[in-house]
Order: sequence, then C-alpha cells, then structure tokens
Amino acid sequence: MKLISYSLIVITLLLSLSCSRILYAYEIDGRKWIGGTTDFYVDIQGIAPSGITWNTAFIAAMNDWSEETLFDFNLIQQAIDPCLSDGLNGVEFTSDLCGSEFGERTLAVTLNKFRSQILGSPAITEADIVINQSKEFNIYDGRLIQSGIQGLDFRRVALHELGHVIGLDHEDGLPSMMSSSIGNIDRITEDDITGVNALYSGLSNCNIKQLRFGSVADGLSDADCTVDDLTVGGGDTSYIDLYRFELSNPTTVNFSMSSSTLDSVLILSDQNLRYLAYDDKSSELCDSSLSKSLPAGSYFLLSNTYDVPVKETCGNTGDYVLTASYSSNKKAGLGNSASLNGGFANASFVGGISADNGQNFGNHFRANQSLDISATINVDPAHQGQSGFLVAAAIVGEQILFLNENGEFVDSAAFPGIIVKHRNLLLSAEELITLATNLIPADLGIQEIEVDFYTGYGLDSDPEELYFNQLPMNLTVSPQ
Ligand SMILES: [Zn+2]
Repeated sequence: MKLISYSLIVITLLLSLSCSRILYAYEIDGRKWIGGTTDFYVDIQGIAPSGITWNTAFIAAMNDWSEETLFDFNLIQQAIDPCLSDGLNGVEFTSDLCGSEFGERTLAVTLNKFRSQILGSPAITEADIVINQSKEFNIYDGRLIQSGIQGLDFRRVALHELGHVIGLDHEDGLPSMMSSSIGNIDRITEDDITGVNALYSGLSNCNIKQLRFGSVADGLSDADCTVDDLTVGGGDTSYIDLYRFELSNPTTVNFSMSSSTLDSVLILSDQNLRYLAYDDKSSELCDSSLSKSLPAGSYFLLSNTYDVPVKETCGNTGDYVLTASYSSNKKAGLGNSASLNGGFANASFVGGISADNGQNFGNHFRANQSLDISATINVDPAHQGQSGFLVAAAIVGEQILFLNENGEFVDSAAFPGIIVKHRNLLLSAEELITLATNLIPADLGIQEIEVDFYTGYGLDSDPEELYFNQLPMNLTVSPQ
C-alpha cells in the first residue's frame, strides 16, 4: 500500500486522432473499471451516407469490444448528455467540446473521470464520448478513404474512443485501433485485445488462498505477488497475500494481522476488488485489525504492507500471524463436499458453535462459556435412502479425535487406519450431528485451544470412502 489521499479526482483525457505516428506497444497505466463492465447509453440520431445508422455502427463497436475481450459493455438504448457529470456514460455528436472548442484535427474526444483507490491506479467512474459534428463521417470497411466514398469511417472512430473508455491509451507501434492517427485498420487488433485482457486479469497474476477462520502463520516476501501485479498498474511494489472467503449469511468478520517485522495493512474487498474497508494504523506496533459487517457473498482479505516503510520499527517483509473470527445469527456454510478417495458427492455442509442457545454462532469464545457445537449435512440425493454411516472428527494440531457412538471424542492414534463411526443409519436428506452440548472448556482444564471440526458420511457399499466438509468448522478458545 502507498500513502494516499481520498479526494475524488477528475481528469479529462483529450485524445484526438491526428496525422502523426509514434512507435509503442499497447499502453495501459492501470486505470480501469472496477469489475470490468459498465453501462453505456447510446441513442445517436441520423444515418450515414452509406445508409447505415450511426447507432448501428456505434453499438457494433461496443459489441466488438465485449465479444473479443474480458471487458463488457452493457447497452442502454437511451440518449444522455455526454457533457453532464452524472455518473452515466453517453455519446453524442456535438458542436464543441462541452464548452471549449474542438482542436482543428480532433474527430472525437473521450472524457474519463476517476476515483482514487486504496490500492493501484485510480478507477474509472465515468466516461463520455463527444464526436465533432463539423467533420464529415460515413460508415464503411477497409481503406480509410476509398474512391467514390466521402467522409471518414465513423465505426473505427467509435472503436478507438471506446478503447479509451475501457482504459487503453494510444499505441502507435503494433497494428492497433488505438493508433493516435485514424488509418486503414478498421477492427480491433490482437494487440488491443491483449492490452484489455492484461488490464482486467490482475487477479490471475496472484496465488489466491482460501481463508481459514482461526489463526494462520504466513509471511510477505519476494515469493509473493505485488500490488502492481494485482492491480496491473500504479507502481506499488509492496507484497500482498490474497485470501478468499464466502459468507452464506450476513456475518460480522474480525481480522487481525500481527507481526514483529512488517508494517501490517489489512484490506477487505469484494470479489471484483472493490475495496470495502482497510486498516493501516490500529496500533503503535506493526499490527493491523479490521472488523466489518457484511452481507452474504464472496470476498477477499488482503494482507499487505507499505511499499516504503512508514513506522521506523516496522519493515516491509517478514512473518505475520493472521487471525480471523466471525459471528452471525445463522450457522455458517462449510463448503461443498471433499472426499477421502477422490470420489464426488453433491453434498453440502453447514455448522455452528453457539454460546447462547443458537441465537448467535461464531468461532471465537472464552474458556468459561458454555458451547453447543453442531453441523448439518445435506446428503447427495443419489445417496439418500442408502445404508451408511456418519463420522465427526476434531483436529487439534497433529492430533485427530473421532466422535464415537457414545458421543465421546477418542484419539485416532488408538485405532490406526480405522475411521471411527459416530452412527450407522439409513441416510436422509439432512443429517444433524451434535458434536457437543454445554461444553465448558475451562471445566476440562482448557484455557486456550484451537480445534477444527469436520463432519462427513459414507456408504456401506463403499466403506473406505468418506464425504466431508471442505472448509473446517473452527473453534478458537481464549482464556476467560
Ligand atoms: Zn485517442
């Protein structure tokens, strides 16, 4: 992360098609739309001398970009004033550049507005196109001026300006629709497509880990991806770890990142890297913490640091411990089915730990609280009605404990190679497993522990196979 300010910045790109040529490859600086899509309002009156409407050509240009690249335009067939700063993107023929004069050689101008971001380059928030109505246009393929055809091809002007809307700058090296001069290229090129796809695929440059509630030891080093890799532009070379998590219900999440060596920064975003919250200053030490109530959905937690150290005592690489907890009034989704032997089951799992008789569920409790722990398995319809068995296990460090038929956890080391069953039964659509009721860790002499619970089922016809929750149900107990 860089030190940033949060003002809205407005930058106008005045990009005209001129007659000069310079040599480069595709040009991007990281400015782009969050999520790789935007609405565009189009209803241009009139028909070209060739008999094609301006609307048809402009919409075809939008579709070309949408079909050939990762970016998507969503057409709204309605005219809006492109000179209004209204958060809406539009296009019109105009007599001037929203109050200023067009340059002598200017065919069209794209006006982009930006908002600064917690990470990377500013995001594009509005883009409008004004087309110089004093120029003579037509619509045709191939050579720019052909004998017997009057005017410049409007379609390639639309393609060029829409390239600016997406976030491309001029590119005068390889064949490109983004050449600063209008020419014989009448469709977007390989270089244009490569440029847009690079701009909108930053997430694929980084390794994404599944967030595990509880605590995880990790670190930031030159083996990690940089903010610049992730945001594709912006010049921030600090290292970053990405953790993905899914919430099946409205949930409050709490994260802390602690380190003795690196200046911790925690950032929360949605799956499109729309930043929702961040913390870079929660302590005098090198630590960071963050809490947020979120609706159901997919999110990223980003563990980052400054690219230039800010606190004297904290650097920008090193180890950290990430602690994650949650609370919700519903049980949490534990993902789809994982399996012991690689088989597939269309099963899903939910689980919850509650200290208030099921009013709230979470993973972080005090040692003197009385806990109820249960999970529900939604059994694969193909397995329902078959005779099978339920299994529940608690993992504490290296130790695996099975829940036996009497509801007691027994050490698997006493049963080498054997899966201890909790219950034999005919499988129903939903199977509830109660792992503990009124469990007070302090009463067992436990003040501090971290446990991951797994629940699963198997079929008597294939007793070696087991289908269980992909994501562990975590219990973190802290001293009272
Ligand atoms: Zn241009």
